[in-house]
Amino acid sequence: MNDIKELLSVKSNILITTHVNPDGDAIGSSLALYNFLTKLDHEVTVVVPNDYPDYLKWMKSDDKILNFSDRSDEIELLIKDIQIIFCLDFNNLSRINELGKLIEESSAKKVLIDHHLNPDDFYDLKYHNVDASATAELVYDLMSFIDEDLLDKDISECIYTGILTDTGSFRFSSTTSKVHSIIAKLLDQGVRPEQIGKTIYESNSFDKLKLLGYSLSEKLKVICDGKAAYIALTRKDLLDYNYRKGDTEGIVNYALSISGVNMATLIIETKDRIKFSFRSSGNFSVNKFANNYFNGGGHKNAAGGSIEDKLSVALDKFLESISKHKEELNY
Ligand code: 5GP
Ligand code: MN
Repeated sequence: MNDIKELLSVKSNILITTHVNPDGDAIGSSLALYNFLTKLDHEVTVVVPNDYPDYLKWMKSDDKILNFSDRSDEIELLIKDIQIIFCLDFNNLSRINELGKLIEESSAKKVLIDHHLNPDDFYDLKYHNVDASATAELVYDLMSFIDEDLLDKDISECIYTGILTDTGSFRFSSTTSKVHSIIAKLLDQGVRPEQIGKTIYESNSFDKLKLLGYSLSEKLKVICDGKAAYIALTRKDLLDYNYRKGDTEGIVNYALSISGVNMATLIIETKDRIKFSFRSSGNFSVNKFANNYFNGGGHKNAAGGSIEDKLSVALDKFLESISKHKEELNY
């Protein structure tokens, strides 16, 4: 961390970016760092590859985030003057779509802060730990190492959101005593868990809930002798329920919640590809599974991937691949 602190000792133009389809950890860690570095008088910009759910659009400085998918020309110009690029919550440049090429070509110092397995070698400095509950936890470590006194309620809310969402509300095995100590400090800064919990988990639209109901009653399938379950949604399904960003978030967890099921998959037909969300409980590594069969990755118990093919082909490939691992799907 000292190398990153030293890098930040000179006032710089800094860009912070995070993965495509940003989640609570991506936005929370990016805005925490944005607010902190701004307090240190750096000139900071946050760029996301594409849009993210409305329930994340409330953290301090959210209005400063630039979306590459609708402002690419402006961002391309801006990157020319950037001296430091922070890459948060992703492990390879393909995770940020077309933005990856600009970052690869930039002569800025690249700093990786991440907790995903096996990061590619595209950075100059890194603070990386696969045991961290969230990238927000690592950003917290870094900020408190640099200047604990700068942490305020706004920054604490961003960090809380990242850790809350990436630990499944403090349930996953990554929820260490250190995590709870950090959370205690965030509460001391004035974070109100009931407020953030309500904003994130109780702000469903009627359409989102109806899509969940439909997915469970019509689309949920149990396979592999009751040890795996999946839900496959077509583009039409999504359109029927007026899909908006974030509406399929969390559906896969219902499949995983069936007693005896240790691996769950959500398959979604998007405009240009079939996207997979994998979850497991216990020993089965969905990171390896996503990596071996679906050009993806992530964590041992939560990963994703995609293929550019028809839904029927993707589904067959999934069913064939998972059946090869039937015996490994134990808790
Ligand atoms: P989700 O299923 O919520 O989209 O993603 C679960 C986890 O897998 C997240 O940590 C996410 O960063 C990672 N992930 C999702 N999709 C991909 C992918 O296509 N490639 C890689 N390398 N990681 C992914
Ligand atoms: Mn994360």
